[in-house]
Amino acid sequence: MSQRRALAIHGGAGSFARESFTAERWAAYDAGLRAALVAGFGRLDRGGSALDAVEAAVRVLEDEPLFNAGRGAVFSHDGINELDAAIMDGASRAAGAVAALRHVRNPVSLARLVMERSPHVLLVGTGAEEFALEHDVPLCPRAWFHTDARYAQLLRARAGDGSVADQLDYFGTVGAVALDGAGNLAAATSTGGMTNKRWGRIGDSPIIGAGTYAANDSCAVSATGHGEYLLRATVARDVAARMEYRGESVTAAARAVIGERLTNLGGEGGLIALSRDGEFAVAYNTRAMFRGVIDSDGRLETGLFSD
Ligand code: ASP
Repeated sequence: MSQRRALAIHGGAGSFARESFTAERWAAYDAGLRAALVAGFGRLDRGGSALDAVEAAVRVLEDEPLFNAGRGAVFSHDGINELDAAIMDGASRAAGAVAALRHVRNPVSLARLVMERSPHVLLVGTGAEEFALEHDVPLCPRAWFHTDARYAQLLRARAGDGSVADQLDYFGTVGAVALDGAGNLAAATSTGGMTNKRWGRIGDSPIIGAGTYAANDSCAVSATGHGEYLLRATVARDVAARMEYRGESVTAAARAVIGERLTNLGGEGGLIALSRDGEFAVAYNTRAMFRGVIDSDGRLETGLFSD
């Protein structure tokens, strides 16, 4: 285990103004990000795999009501939380994903079960929840996911014109990318989607190559932002492809995909990426993006705005 180990996470991108974000508010988010970094990196420190690390980090963020995943997820137009998640193993390129879940507390863990215990990559809705029951994953009441703050956001979005501009404050998907001591990469993403979405709408997060991707020969990626654009720009796979085919660094590839490809399409969002050498990249075209990184060289940082 001489190889460098690293874990990076994000808690979504958004376009709120710096002035509107108080020090107390940041302290709460910062604590959530740090708890996830410590939980995930603890796995790597104990010899766990990159998959174990991204799953552990995302589970903490799913249980933290501040973020738009698991408890605290945004509401669909009909006032229901519908959850999507994906996980990918960079060593084998095995992947698992779930979408439109209504009763699973930690969607990322169900995504991992789909990867490891089914011949499929993506299960949705009732079929995914049936699969959960068959694998002794307890279902929880919908009330578990409810927070008053998210419900108030839904009411505001319903009262507005429903445009994306109305919703930009509400991104808050979570994700993680990790490099373990054996040199393997993994990525995971989990989300409630977008406030006021139609029920049944699925975004980029559980779609392999759009919101989530990992391959040991390039990088691990987790994206966030306006899913309809991230899907069409296939952002996660595009970062890996630029590294693979053009020999770009992970930082150059991430900047080009967000700064050019996504921006030219008119989409807003960002991503985190980790290369097989442990180089961490973050890129976003929104005003802010919650993120954090921890590695075996002693780095432990969280951030929100550009400086
Ligand atoms: N990308 C997610 C989606 O469109 C939302 C987010 O990142 O907050 O479902």
